[in-house]
This record gives sequence, structure tokens and C-alpha cells, in this order.
Amino acid sequence: MGDGKISRRRFLWISSLSAAGALLGACGSGKEAPPAVPGFRFDYDPMRTYPYRGWESLYEKQWTWDKVVRSTHSANCTGSCSWQVYVKDGVMLREEQASDYPRISADLPDYNPRGCQKGACFVEYVYGAQRLRFPLLRVGKRGEGKWRRATWDEALELVAGKLLDNVYRYGPDTNSFFSVIPAMSPVSFCGGSRVAHYLGGVFLSFYDWYCDLPPGEPLTWGVQTEACECADWFNAKMIVMWGSNITQTRIPDAHFAFEARYNGAKIVGISPDFNSSCTHADLYLGIAPGTDAELALGVARILVEEKLYDAPYVREQTDMPLLVVEKTRRYLRESDMEENGGDEVFYFFDEKEGKVTKAPGSMGSPTRSIDLSGAVPALTGRYVVTGRKGEKIAVVPVFERMRTLLARYTLKEVARRTGLSPRDIAAFARDLGTRRPAMIIHGAGTNHWFHNDLINRAMMLLVALTGDVGKNGGGFNHYVGQERIWPEEGFKKLAFPEGGKKQRFQNTTLWTYVHSSNKDEHRYNGKPIEEYIEESVAKGWMPLYPKNRKQKPRSLIVWRANYLNQAKGNEKIIPSLWNDLDLIVNVNFRMDTTALYSDVVLPASSYYEKTDLNTTDCHSFVHPFNKVLDPLFESRTDWDIFSALAKKIEEVALRRKLPPYKDDELGWTRDFTSFHRQWSGDGKIATDEAAANFILANAEETKGMTFAGLQAHPLRFVNTDPHVWNSDVEQGIAYTPFKHQVEKKKPWRTLVGRQQFYIDHPWFLDLGEELPVSKEPVTDPYPLYWNTPHGRWSIHSTWRDNRYMLRLQRGMPIAYLNPLDAAARGIADNDWIRIYNHIGFCVVRAKILPGEQRGRVTMYHGWEKFLGFRQGGWQSLTYIKIKPTQLIGKYGHVNFKLNYWGPTGNNRDVKVEVEKANI
Ligand code: SF4
Repeated sequence: MGDGKISRRRFLWISSLSAAGALLGACGSGKEAPPAVPGFRFDYDPMRTYPYRGWESLYEKQWTWDKVVRSTHSANCTGSCSWQVYVKDGVMLREEQASDYPRISADLPDYNPRGCQKGACFVEYVYGAQRLRFPLLRVGKRGEGKWRRATWDEALELVAGKLLDNVYRYGPDTNSFFSVIPAMSPVSFCGGSRVAHYLGGVFLSFYDWYCDLPPGEPLTWGVQTEACECADWFNAKMIVMWGSNITQTRIPDAHFAFEARYNGAKIVGISPDFNSSCTHADLYLGIAPGTDAELALGVARILVEEKLYDAPYVREQTDMPLLVVEKTRRYLRESDMEENGGDEVFYFFDEKEGKVTKAPGSMGSPTRSIDLSGAVPALTGRYVVTGRKGEKIAVVPVFERMRTLLARYTLKEVARRTGLSPRDIAAFARDLGTRRPAMIIHGAGTNHWFHNDLINRAMMLLVALTGDVGKNGGGFNHYVGQERIWPEEGFKKLAFPEGGKKQRFQNTTLWTYVHSSNKDEHRYNGKPIEEYIEESVAKGWMPLYPKNRKQKPRSLIVWRANYLNQAKGNEKIIPSLWNDLDLIVNVNFRMDTTALYSDVVLPASSYYEKTDLNTTDCHSFVHPFNKVLDPLFESRTDWDIFSALAKKIEEVALRRKLPPYKDDELGWTRDFTSFHRQWSGDGKIATDEAAANFILANAEETKGMTFAGLQAHPLRFVNTDPHVWNSDVEQGIAYTPFKHQVEKKKPWRTLVGRQQFYIDHPWFLDLGEELPVSKEPVTDPYPLYWNTPHGRWSIHSTWRDNRYMLRLQRGMPIAYLNPLDAAARGIADNDWIRIYNHIGFCVVRAKILPGEQRGRVTMYHGWEKFLGFRQGGWQSLTYIKIKPTQLIGKYGHVNFKLNYWGPTGNNRDVKVEVEKANI
């Protein structure tokens, strides 16, 4: 070209000649081709002529290392994946999936390899900018980010002194402790829980607070959560992914479900958005948000009407044949029938003998079996029995009552409310009723609703009717949170000595609600929630600390958790509960929101610098965390940190000559001058490895295992403790719960000894929830649901600030909107938008997503408050809503138990409006 540049056509021509020349040269003619273009040199080889080539070893030697150490990640992901970490010259270079889980059976896909993209870049976190290196003391306002470096001794002296001050001045129940999910690193958990125990502090729950607890399970089955391990998904002939987006949230395990299709399974995806899991479904049901119980009950009606239920199973395993007094709506009890009769013995009508008979296996029954011994309990009909005073009592089986209730859920009505087609609903119901075994994989998508107990119970009813609970490939399998600590008895002995009887446990939802300005203006059955709370606490159903209501929580120690970032209504918590606390301590390996808003930050070792154990409900293996390197910088393992704190408490108590503290509530005279001796079990569990071995040695599941023995590869559990578990671990078979009940006829852990769908507690009767029903979400007057699900690029808030994960998305918080909702508000893709309601607002960018359902705005959760929001945060719009029925206690099997029963911190019923932000 005239300006001396080469045209594109000529460039291509030159390139082709050059390539041809290079090819000829490579063919070994021995002669270099003459230059096709004057001045163009074919003999120029940068590899040959470049003088310095030492850098090449960087690439060659990246595949050499000094050592490889097995570890995993402790982020509440449920993965529990075994990884090998490679070290060179004292630096962790990278991790690789270990791929050495022993195979359970040749008939099942195996667990190898396990992992996800977050785990594959954890070394970035170990050395990342967010890593905490030294103890820090706050010098500015909370959250301002002004710190000074402190020595360990200085920081611990401050904390120990304040904790002891609180005990003597305000009472031990003003010290509060929060940590989550022991299964992901039980030794780290126990370090702090033991300090809480010996100090008399309040240990706060997490599983109910995060709404991971499916309250339908304690109500119906008397358990916290029971689910099959993921290999059992392969045994199903029908899998219903209901509010569970397994391709994003169960990355290591999703393959079991999709491989099940090669084993004859049909997959149904139920979710308002057409998400990445639903792309694998044979049938997709794009349900309207919050109408899941409606659909379940509509399907139940079809199962019952078309006799697609398993009658023998229902008669034996469920409360459906138990008789209910028509007038009172309470179960017919022995106390109704006999002088001095019990309240925990129930009846059915035996069709074979033609008479009313006591049901075996209930809490008050002398029979510890639910075997019917030939009886045929009636499911239908109406009967009259003679009471203890000779009065006539009209009774009816639960099944008959349920049938009446289900009549409301006609196909037409259910289709209208759920937004689904009647044909799809009917097809789903008939498949569920005929494909054996069938399972529901249940997730947070449905569990985070206010009426989660009703939604759970309605879904559980389906697989109970079809007789699929307690069978491989079947059941209602809930996976939210890495809740299952398999060696549970060993863990509990370490975490809460003295059987937990001398420990202050507290439901965190209730504690946070009462002590913060999170206020719910709704009325339930005409009453404000405060009245229900008062009654529940007064009756001793739920604990509330501090016991002295004139006191308030004074200190909070948080470890292995990001309490403030993940707290519903955190904008309301900061000026109230947070402001009232005199001391907030955070033990952490990275500067997250809770650390930023704390007074003392203690640097913890990362997952790769600690000794611990790891288990999950998703598989039946245990494997270790090993110290790949000793704790970096000035960090310490959680166990060591709490050991040092225990020593400091002892030292301060001795120096101050503190007299024994009489803890009347727990009947314990506490001697803080020997605090570390108590904490460390007389020095027997002074180290992390000793603590890990203590857990292994004290649990049936890990009998004979040692920490050292886990180094070679993960080991499958050898047994299950019958006090804790409802099935055995069987050689060659994937674990699934409730075989003890279905095969061995052991009673269910409920008042009636059966799967209990009928709860005749007065509050349930008052609220019309004695049977599962469908209720509208509890919302405020805004048009869009605020949906904050678990996503694929972080585990809660962990990895939210990881640069590799940020590169896989837009790198900042984004809210997804349906194109029509966006267009109606004049919002284009990537616009700044303001999302608001009466609680608060946040300003973020919009992403237009056709797969999102109209009437919803979604932001994957966990973004730190300080991470890319123009204003506010994702929790600025949420608040705590406590469901009255979740405050009950002293009803058979339904009693407060840490992380087993108590109000859940639901968050799906929140509604918002969106507008374009002026930025
Ligand atoms: S983060 Fe969890 S799921 Fe991902 S690799 Fe680690 S243990 Fe597995």
C-alpha cells in the first residue's frame, strides 16, 4: 500500500509463503529456502538466538515438587473432596484431585474424582491479599477498617479479661459463641465449643439459623436431617430435583443423578427458573415461587384418588391409620380410653379383627417394634369408640382426614396457583406413582420459605405414600449444609462434655431477633410474633439467653463463620445487637465482613495448615486435613488458638485470684484457675491430632481408625451407631436412611412411632396446620420476590473475593431479571439498578436473563458487604420472620435441641421493587 503498510491480502500471501518455506526447511532439504520477500529472514529463530534461556526452567520445573500432602476444604460445601496439595521450596503451588476413594460397588459409579473449581484454586486464598497474617486490634470505628497489629499475648489478654469480667459482673450467659457445621472440621469447631462449655457461655445454633434445617424432618421423622449418600441417586428410577440446583451446588456429585438416566431413571426439574440442572431434566416444571406445597398436595391427591399409593407400607410405616377424635381434632389416646391411661399410646381400627387396637411402637407403647403382627389397620371409614367414662367418641383415621383435605387441591386449582399445565402435573403424579424407587432431591430453593415446614411435610408425604422412604434409590433427600457429622458421638463428647447437659444452647434465629431491631410487623392468627415468643419462652419450649431479661449479650466470639455478612437483616443488626456488644472477636483466615466489623481479629490457619477431619452427608467416607505447611505468618490452628485462650483465662484468673463462680442454673461451681487443664482433658487432648483421634476412637462409625491411618486414602465408615443412625453402613451398598424402620420394624423417632404427618399440638391445630397444607408466602406489598440462592462461584461468602472466580462472572454483584420485568422498568443489561423495600436497599448492576421467571429478582448469595455494591448489600432487604409453629416444644419428639429444632431463619418470602439507579 502506498503508505508503506502491508495489505491484508498481501500479508496472507507472505504468511503462506513463509509457512511453506518453513515446511520445506523442516522437510530436511538441508538448504534454507530463498527469501520470498526481500528483507524477510527465514533463518531467524528466537529460541536459538535469544541469549538468556534460564527462564525456561520455570516451565519445566513446575511439574516438580518436594512433597504432596492430602487435605480438603472446610467451607460448608458438602463436597468433602480429597485433594493432594503440591509443595515446592516451602510454597504451596497447586492442588489436584486425589481420586482414591475406594469403590463402594461395581454396580455404582464411584466417587472419583471429586472437586470443584473453587477447591482447585484454594492456594490462591492461602497467599491472597485477603489473608489475615497477624492479630489485629480495632483502632477506628467498627467496620471502618482501621487496625493496629498486636501480639498474640496482648490480644488474648484483652479477650480473656473481658470474658471473665462478663461472667462475674453480668453472668456467664452474656458471653456468646458462634461457629458452624462441625462436619467440615470438627476439631476446629470443638476448640471453641469447649471454651464455651467450661466458661458457661451461650453456644449459638447455626443449622436452623441458616435455614438449612428442614423443619419437616424433625416434625415427621423425629430426626435432624437424614439423606442418602449421593451414590444412591444412581439407584433411583425417578429423580425429582425440587428446589435443588445440583449442577451448581453439588458439583462433585451431580453426575450420580445424570448417570442414573443410563440406569433407567427419569429426571424432573422443579424450579421457577430454567437453571443449569433443569437442562438435564426429562420434564421441567417452571413453578410459581412459593407454591411448592400446592403442587405436592395436588400430586398427593392424584396418588390417593388413583390408588397409586403403597397401602401396606402406609398402614405400617405412617400415622395414616391412627384414629383422631373428630370433635377435638386430637389423636385418640389411651388416656381417653382408660383410667390412668397414657398420653403417648394411640389406636387404629383393625379391619381383620373388626376392632380398635393399640398401635405398637409409640413413645408410650411397651412394644419397641412397629410390626403389625397380622393386623390390618384401616385407612378409611368413620368409627365410634367408648371412652373411659362410657361416653361415645366419634373417630376417624388420619388418612380419611387427609383425603378430605386433599379434595381442595384439584388439578385445575393447583394448575392455576402454580402456573403449571394440568397435563404436566398429572404426568408428574403418574410417573411418581408408578416408577419405583422414586426420590426427591430437595434443596434450599424450597427450604428457605417461611412455610418451609409445610412445604417439607407436603413433599415428604408424596414419597411416604409411594412407599419409597427407607429404600435404596428412594426417599426425600435434603442437602443444604454439610450437616452430617458421621462420628457424632465422638464429636459430641469432645465438643460438649458431660453429654451437653451442662451447656447453654440457644437458637440463633430467636436470639438475633430478640436482641436486634429486626422486627416483623406481620400478625399470625391475629397475634404478633412477640406474643408467641413470650409464651414459648415462658413455657420452657425455647431457651432465651441471657436468662436475666434485663441483661443483654456482652461478647460474641465467631470462628469458622461469617455471621454478620450472612445474617438476615444485617443492616438492622449493626446498630442494635452489634452496637450493644462490648467485645466482638473473630477467628478467621481472611478479612471478611464479620472480621471487618470486629474488635479483635485472630489469624487462623487456612484449610491447608491444620490437622482435622472432614465428613459429609453426600458420601460415607472420612478423610483428613493435614498440615501441608505449618501455619503461615503468625496464624494458628483454631484448636491452638482456643488452647491459648484457655491458658490465658487460667492465667488471668490466677493473677486476679478469682474465687470459684457458682453457676446456679447449671449446678456447677466453676474454677477458672484450672481452666486449661479442664479444657484440655487433663492434657490428654492438648493437640489437634489428639483431638482428632479422640473423635475417631469414641464413635462407632470410626472404630479402629486413627488419624495417621487416614493418610493413605479416605476410609468408609465401618458401622453406624444405632442411637444416632437409622440404617447400617452395608458393604457394597450405598447408604440410605430408615432401613431400621422399614426392614427391621424399629419405631420411628416420633411421638406415634411412625412417620407422623398429623401434629396435634394446640398451636398446629389453631393455625390449621395439623396436616400439611399449602399457605401463601408471607410477603410485603412489592411486586418481585427477592431470591438469594446458593451459586456456583462461591461457597457462601468464601471464594466470593477470589480473583479466579470473579473472572468467571462479571466480577461484581449482579441481579438477574426476566427481560419483560426489566423492559417494564426501562432497565437494560448491565445498568445500575436500585433494589428496595421497606427494610432497605442496595445498588448493583442488572443482568437480563431469559431463564429467570417473571416476578423475581435473583442475586446469588454470599457477596461481602464491601465487595462491589454501589450501596447496601444483599441482606439489606431481608429481615427475620419467625414461624410460630417452630417455637413449640414439650410435644413428644418435638423439643428444642441445638440445630435440630427451633425457628429457622427463612428468607424467600421477602419482596422488593427495582428501578434504574441514577448513577
Ligand atoms: S470446595 Fe468443597 S466441593 Fe469444592 S473441591 Fe473443595 S471440598 Fe470439594
